[in-house]
Amino acid sequence: MHKAYFFDMDGVLFDSMPNHAAAWEQVMSAHGLRFTARDCYLQEGRTGQDVINEAILHTHHRPATEDEIHTIYREKSDAFHARGGALPMRGIHDVLHFLRNSSVDGLTPQIWIVTGSGQQTLFDTLEQHFPGVFTRAHMVTAFDVTHGKPDPEPYLRAWQGSRLPKADCCVIENAPLGIRAAKAAGLYAIGVNTGPLLPEDLAREGADLVLPDMPALLHHLRQSA
Ligand code: CA
Repeated sequence: MHKAYFFDMDGVLFDSMPNHAAAWEQVMSAHGLRFTARDCYLQEGRTGQDVINEAILHTHHRPATEDEIHTIYREKSDAFHARGGALPMRGIHDVLHFLRNSSVDGLTPQIWIVTGSGQQTLFDTLEQHFPGVFTRAHMVTAFDVTHGKPDPEPYLRAWQGSRLPKADCCVIENAPLGIRAAKAAGLYAIGVNTGPLLPEDLAREGADLVLPDMPALLHHLRQSA
C-alpha cells in the first residue's frame, strides 16, 4: 500500500459525470458553442475556465473574456444542480473506510482530494456524504492552482503537501487527462474506469493499473495491504 492517496473528485468520489456532461452540453449549446457530452468525457479534469476558453477558441478563434467564463460557468453549475447534482460513487465508501482503518508503517494513509472543480455546491456536499474524511488542508481545487490538469501542478501540490517521497503516493483517477497529469508529476496512478471511455484510453496515458470499478479497487488495496 501507499502512504498517501490522492483522489480525483468527479467520476471517482461522486458519480457526477453524467450530470456534468449533460449540463455542459446544454449550456454550451445555449451559447452557440459546439461541445458534446463526449467532448466532456475527453476533456474531463480540466478546470471550467479552461473548458470554456477552449470551446470559445474553437468556435470564435479568440480567447474567452472573463465575463464569458463567469457567466457560462455559473450557468453550468446551476444546470448541474438542477439535474440533481451528484451522489457518491458506488463502492467508494468501502474504499475510504478501508484506508481509514489501514496502517502503513504505523500511520494511517493520508487521504487527499485533487480536483479541477471549483463548484462550491460539490465541496459543501463532501462533508454531508463523507463526514470527517476530507479536510481543506488535504484538498487541491481549481482555487489553488495556476495550471489545472493535464498540467502536473495540482498533483505536485498534493505531493508537496504530503511531505512524503513520490514513491509513497498514489493517484486515483477516472479521466485520461487526470492520468496524464499524475504521470507528468511522476506519481503512481491507478485509473478506475467509471465512465463510457475504454480502458485503453486510460492505459494510453500511462496508468500503472486500470480497474473497472471501486469494488475492484478495494480488492486491489486489500491484496496489497
Ligand atoms: Ca474525474
